[in-house]
Amino acid sequence: MATTEQGATQTPLVKISAKPAAPKKRPEPPPYFAFHRMRKVVHLVCVIIFFTLPLSNLVRFDIPHQRFYFMGRELLISEFGILFLSLMFLLFVIAAMSIIYGRIYCGYLCPQMIFSEAADSTEREINRLVKKYVRWDAAKQKLLSRAIFWVLLGAASVVLAFVFIAYFVEPRDLFRRLMSFDIRTAGGIAGATTTLITFLDFLLLRQRFCTTVCPYGYLQGILGDGNTLLVHYRDPQQECIECKKCVRVCEMGIDIRKSPFQIECIHCADCIDACNEIMGKLGKHGLIHYSWGDRNLPENLRESWFQRIGIRDAKRVIILLIMFLYGFGLYIAISMRQAVLVKISPDRTTMYQIVQDGKVANTFRLQIANRGHEQTTVVLSVEDLPGATIAGTENALVVNAGGMLQKEFQVVTSPTAVAAGVNHFQLVAKVGNDRDKFPQTFITPSKE
Ligand code: SF4
Ligand code: SF4
Repeated sequence: MATTEQGATQTPLVKISAKPAAPKKRPEPPPYFAFHRMRKVVHLVCVIIFFTLPLSNLVRFDIPHQRFYFMGRELLISEFGILFLSLMFLLFVIAAMSIIYGRIYCGYLCPQMIFSEAADSTEREINRLVKKYVRWDAAKQKLLSRAIFWVLLGAASVVLAFVFIAYFVEPRDLFRRLMSFDIRTAGGIAGATTTLITFLDFLLLRQRFCTTVCPYGYLQGILGDGNTLLVHYRDPQQECIECKKCVRVCEMGIDIRKSPFQIECIHCADCIDACNEIMGKLGKHGLIHYSWGDRNLPENLRESWFQRIGIRDAKRVIILLIMFLYGFGLYIAISMRQAVLVKISPDRTTMYQIVQDGKVANTFRLQIANRGHEQTTVVLSVEDLPGATIAGTENALVVNAGGMLQKEFQVVTSPTAVAAGVNHFQLVAKVGNDRDKFPQTFITPSKE
């Protein structure tokens, strides 16, 4: 019972129930995908690939031995055609990925970004541990953190430079040079220089490299179109609470709300995670999304699966088709190439020579490249030229694995056995059970 100012008694207006009211249910945050976690898994896979490729000969140039290893196949650097096609294919894949998936390469796959972020988090972790466990004043703690980081970065730079140079020099050979502190040969000097550059890069530049040195971001500006994947802030209902967490988490130091086309943005999606987390606490969807261009709605559920993976117009279908055909053609070209390449061409500085016994000789040039792993023997013979023999070289010619041989030789026959003027015949190069035929002409003096 409550008493009024006049002393009258009144029954309370609010009836208190025996059971307490259930607390208001907190809104469930919408489920969201943690891009950061996924990106770190992709980074780990990329690091494993970066270390594996040169050590397993999947992709590696061997400059001292003039080899190019591609998908386990061994090509000579002199095989310019296939080498050129392979490099063009890689460039084409990078350009096609940029058109469809924008800067995804930068945020997810680029070694510079992966190791820059690793350097950032290692530095932060060292600072945290030193502050937690070392009871020194702040200046000394800072000095100790920096010293530890420098030592770790120095060791990491040696390893990274080693793997990088192993793309160009045989890894065991490189290891021997490293162990003997070789700074006299080209490989040793390249290793030492790369170590120093790597150290300075991850000490001073890190993500700044992307906006100052690397041309890829600028290239993206040219290649992207209205359907290219980008990170986009959209807030038609004015829901942004100005917490600025999206800005604080951005390793590139930008505010995605200003524009989705900032050159610094590497489409890493850390800001998407940050906004999803903040807005999720309010029971709302985040305001930043991956989006195909700046017009398409990210949550358009009516889209087909191929639109959702980025195949959104005829241009992309054509690009993927060309890429597939190119890759297939390259695969066929590499699989059909012969381990032993023989080339024969006539030397026409003199049309013919009269040699011993009045016989006529024509000179030819022979080039053999053994691109296989075993020694090979090439035997030459002549067909369709009566009485002809090979002179001026031993026959059979032995070429070691990976070796090249260049020779001049002569085809000799009696002028009475063949027609005067031009005679068509075949030079045959026998390699194992294979016979390569080279149509040639044999020139004799014309009859007066
Ligand atoms: S995290 Fe989201 S809510 Fe916070 S400032 Fe960025 S866009 Fe606005
Ligand atoms: S704006 Fe977002 S997506 Fe772009 S770099 Fe910064 S955190 Fe990554």
